[in-house]
Amino acid sequence: MKIVIIGATHAGTTAALHLKQCDPQFEIILIERNNYIQFMRYGIAMSLQSGIPLEKMFLHQPSDFTKLGIEILLEHTATDIDFKKKQVTVQSAENEIKQLIYDKLIIATGSQPIVPKYAENFNHLNNVFQVKSYQNGLKLQEYFKQNKNQDKVVAIIGGGYTAIELLQSFAQNNFKVVIVDRNPRVLRKYFDQDICEIVEEIIRPKCTLALNSEVKSLQQIQSKLHLNVFNNKTQEDQLITADACVICIGDKPSTNFLVQAAQRDGLELETILDAIKIDQNSITSIPDVYACGGCAITRFHGEQIFLPLAQDAVRQGISAAFDIINQTNAKIPQLPTFDSEVTMAVRVYDKVLSQSGLSTAHAQQLFGADNIKSHTVKQLQKLDFMTINESVLVKIVYRNDTKQLVGAQVVGDRNSVEVSQIASIMINRGMDLKQVVQQDFAFNQWFGKPQHVLQQAALEVILQEGFK
Ligand SMILES: Cc1cc2nc3c(=O)[nH]c(=O)nc-3n(C[C@H](O)[C@H](O)[C@H](O)COP(=O)(O)OP(=O)(O)OC[C@H]3O[C@@H](n4cnc5c(N)ncnc54)[C@H](O)[C@@H]3O)c2cc1C
Repeated sequence: MKIVIIGATHAGTTAALHLKQCDPQFEIILIERNNYIQFMRYGIAMSLQSGIPLEKMFLHQPSDFTKLGIEILLEHTATDIDFKKKQVTVQSAENEIKQLIYDKLIIATGSQPIVPKYAENFNHLNNVFQVKSYQNGLKLQEYFKQNKNQDKVVAIIGGGYTAIELLQSFAQNNFKVVIVDRNPRVLRKYFDQDICEIVEEIIRPKCTLALNSEVKSLQQIQSKLHLNVFNNKTQEDQLITADACVICIGDKPSTNFLVQAAQRDGLELETILDAIKIDQNSITSIPDVYACGGCAITRFHGEQIFLPLAQDAVRQGISAAFDIINQTNAKIPQLPTFDSEVTMAVRVYDKVLSQSGLSTAHAQQLFGADNIKSHTVKQLQKLDFMTINESVLVKIVYRNDTKQLVGAQVVGDRNSVEVSQIASIMINRGMDLKQVVQQDFAFNQWFGKPQHVLQQAALEVILQEGFK
């Protein structure tokens, strides 16, 4: 069987490896437009901050695949697909065109940073940055090395977790950072207001927060960048002057040419918010075509959303691979992807914030404002007499009618991320607060408490409110 995979980062490489490991007879071709594979884009901020070389941020080398017999076409871009003839057109960096026939196609083209209109012509400038590719990383690293400790002002447009991670790298090297976001809070997509406020309290001394502020235009005037900003709250224009600017306002799925190709062939590659619609086995609306990762939708509490995370790219890549394997080897089961809880974690100086499931606002939208409640517990992670002992704050979000746990937000040290990981499984399995209380957790006097903090939170709610 000939399997063509477009895109060689998390989703594409995961699918290729599982396919080949299960059946060495599969002929697999991996197409990648870059001259490298599986670059960890979030490693850019990590490299700046930690000094770990950017070159370490590749999770695989092409030779890891070629030695298994997987063919890799680097610096080849898939430009067209004939879905009826099952043929992919690829163009090399030298403009050589090839046609590749497939039995099964896996689309793993991921997503690309949104470039706002005002910045479209600024990519060539050595002080305007995106955070996606290895080249983006090198460019940012170069600027960083040359300008650190010189009081340069860096404006970061977008207040998501990329901004929070970059802030720490820049601020520790004496850049002055301005975070500009049109929302009233940073990290708004993930956390409730009270949790965002904890983040803002930590970062305010390290940066200027320009919230409710929408960038309208960007101009290069001599060596400075002028950001013309409109404040949605005060309804006033403001000018922010910076030496450099990083744009991280989100991603969009790389699906344009695929949708157009399908239309031309009289087929529909169904999308939602431009992300390819897939079922739990990563199957698209076109026969023998799979999609996984950042180019595809994520299933989240009955909704189909675009919110690409690496762990979902991997899980969807596995589902695609297992569905194909199952067709030739019935002993290997299909492995459908469970719905995501978009569990994520971000480091904010010496704290780590993590979350899983729904925020209060999102839960209220889905289940009604009056039906959603939350409860917050803050306690030491270990027994009170332990001298090295960090606190952990856990906010649980639950439905009032069923007392089902639907979300958890956690602030603590690195170990506290484990609370969100556990909550993720509980939420995903639809556990109510009684079931949360009765789960089995290891206890050891050196590491923890006899009652897990999630149990503590659930128990407090039951004792206060009863359980109908
Ligand atoms: C700054 C930043 C920080 C992030 N941090 C986290 C995090 O902490 N945790 C987390 O889980 N997720 C994080 N994410 C999200 C994560 O990076 C994505 O979910 C993940 O990379 C998706 O993997 P993917 O393989 O589906 O797609 P991508 O990583 O987008 O890769 C797609 C690949 O396809 C190739 N490609 C695209 N089109 C073509 C074509 N036509 N022909 C050939 N090749 C093509 C691209 O070159 C690329 O290699 C972060 C994202 C960003 C931007």
